[in-house]
Order: sequence, then structure tokens, then C-alpha cells
Amino acid sequence: MSDCDLLILGGGPAGLTAGLYAARARLHAVLLERMMMGGQIATTETLENYPGFPEPLAGAELGPLFEKQAQQFGLDVRRFQEAAALERHESGFSVALADGSRITARALIAAMGTEWVKLGIPGEDNLRGVGVSYCATCDGAFFRDQEIAVIGGGNSAIEEALFLTKFARRVHVVHRRDTLRAERIVQERAFANDRIAFVWNHVPVAIRGESAVEGLEVRDVNRGETTVLPVTGVFIYIGMRANTALLQGLVAMDDRGFVAAGEDTVTTCPGLFAAGDIRQKPLRQVVTAVSDGAVAAVMAEKYLENLGDE
Ligand code: NAP
Repeated sequence: MSDCDLLILGGGPAGLTAGLYAARARLHAVLLERMMMGGQIATTETLENYPGFPEPLAGAELGPLFEKQAQQFGLDVRRFQEAAALERHESGFSVALADGSRITARALIAAMGTEWVKLGIPGEDNLRGVGVSYCATCDGAFFRDQEIAVIGGGNSAIEEALFLTKFARRVHVVHRRDTLRAERIVQERAFANDRIAFVWNHVPVAIRGESAVEGLEVRDVNRGETTVLPVTGVFIYIGMRANTALLQGLVAMDDRGFVAAGEDTVTTCPGLFAAGDIRQKPLRQVVTAVSDGAVAAVMAEKYLENLGDE
């Protein structure tokens, strides 16, 4: 006999929406979140493209709303609970938690989200927290009136660069090509902002400094020359990797940990569904994450119905 019908790993938009739908289907569903609810949106300054909210919405506000709604229907939400290991048994899944306890479930929805990819250059690890950051919302205010660098040309890099202009005197966006990957509307805002300076066709090679960031060494990808940008902060946004180490060996995934699962969220492991940013998909947004969560819950419900009372 399992502890619950459905175990949901991850308290971001995908996991919490899965929980809402599962609770409304009257499944006994438990959601585990290792930190605070909301996932990536918890550290996103504002959301402008989540439908239904025409005014800019603070990311930190949306997570608690998802949670409240799911709890109203009976979702059992457990925060600061980190899954350390996952096993598949004949009757379902068994998760060992970091605190030594264990929880079993007949079906499982994996919605653990992503983490930032690292540059892997000297200074990145030892200067983290003293100038190197992956979170503008958390650390931006420390750089008031300073010169800083943002690495990357995607939505994250450009949106965060724009946010950082609230504090920094100058934001150097270092990008390895001469065109951005970010959405057009975001690009237009960045080009119109005179606090942002683009450093095209350059890649970072080292972050300088002993106990604080004193400069960023960048290399021109065409000429090979290196120069040093006089910055005191480096914000790195070069993409994401899925938090799916727990699923290694259980489901098919690619080399960045993104799980092979279609729109139906069905993975190669029976009873295990993948929702949100961890799934291979063309668009990682809150709106696609909540969609995955709803679909995964319905698929899990059908899977459990087919299992019957065995
Ligand atoms: P991303 O779209 O994968 O962009 C990563 C950026 O970093 C790219 O410009 C890439 O350059 C660059 N890059 C990758 N590896 C690098 C390296 N080793 N050195 C230097 N530069 C490197 O990642 P993201 O911006 O974090 O976005 C992830 C997903 O979340 C996307 O699907 C994005 O649309 C979504 N997102 C959406 C929003 C929104 O809609 N408001 C906000 C944030 C994120 P290249 O362009 O040359 O590949």
C-alpha cells in the first residue's frame, strides 16, 4: 500500500498546477518542494506575458497564488523536502528524502525545473556571491551606480540586463554573436536603453578578482584578442539545464537532462510523467508549464484508473 496516489516533485508552476488538477480529481496527491514555492518565477522580477494579468505581475506573487489555489482543493504541499533518490517498484515509486524519511506513491509527476548553466571559466565559482550572480532580482541592488556585465543573448539575459539598469550605471551585455536570441519586443527595449552597451562577438574567458569581482576578461571570437571590462558584477544567463539527476537511468533524456516526453508528458517509465521546463519542448514559459501540469495530472489519473486497485 503506497503512502499516496500521486507524488509531485517540484513546486513551480508545472508542479502546482498538476497538484491543483490532481486534487480536483480527488487523488491523494502530495507535492514536495525543496525550497520556496514558485520555482523560477520566485526570482523573476516581473511577468508580462502570463495571460490574464495585464499589469506587470511580480513573479514572487504568482507562486503563492498557485499554491493557495491548489491547497484549497486539498493538495498536500510539503516544502523544504528534498528528494534524494528515486526508485521504481512493481507497485509504484519510492522516494528517499534528504532528511532520511521515505515516501511511496503509485504514480509520479516530475516537475523539478531547471538550473542555470555555468560558463566554466576561472573566477566563476570562487567569486560567486561576491560579484558573480545568476539572480538579478536577488543581487541587483548591490550594484547601484556600478558597472556590470550580463552574459548571454537570450530572453533571460536581456530581460535581466534591462532590470539591472535600475541600479547599475552601465550594463555591458556580452554576447557571442552579433544578433540576439531574445524576443523582439525585449530586444527593442534593450536597444533603446542608453545604460546598456552591447559587446558583440565576445565570450568571457576569466572573471578577475581575489575577494570581489574586479574585471571581466573577454575574447573577440573573430580576432582572438582579449580585453578586460572594468566591471564589479557579472550576471550569467547562458541557458538552463534540467534538474533531473534523480531520473537518470529511469527515463530517456538528452545530454542537458531534458526528458524525452511529448505533449502528453508520458515518459519511457510507466507511471512517471514529466511536466514543465524539464521536458523537451520548444517553448519554456509559465504558460506552457501550467499546461504540462494539467495534462500530466490527467494522464496520471488515467494511468491510476487503468491500474485499478491492484
Ligand atoms: P537561452 O534562450 O538558451 O539563451 C542562452 C543564451 O546564452 C544564448 O544567447 C546563447 O547564445 C548564450 N550562450 C549559451 N552558451 C554560451 C556560452 N558557453 N558562452 C556564451 N554565451 C552562451 O536561455 P534563457 O535566456 O535562459 O532562456 C531559457 C528559456 O526560458 C527560453 O526558452 C526562453 O525563451 C525562456 N524565457 C522566457 C522569458 C520570457 O518569455 N519573458 C524569460 C526568460 C526565459 P546563442 O544565442 O549564440 O546560442
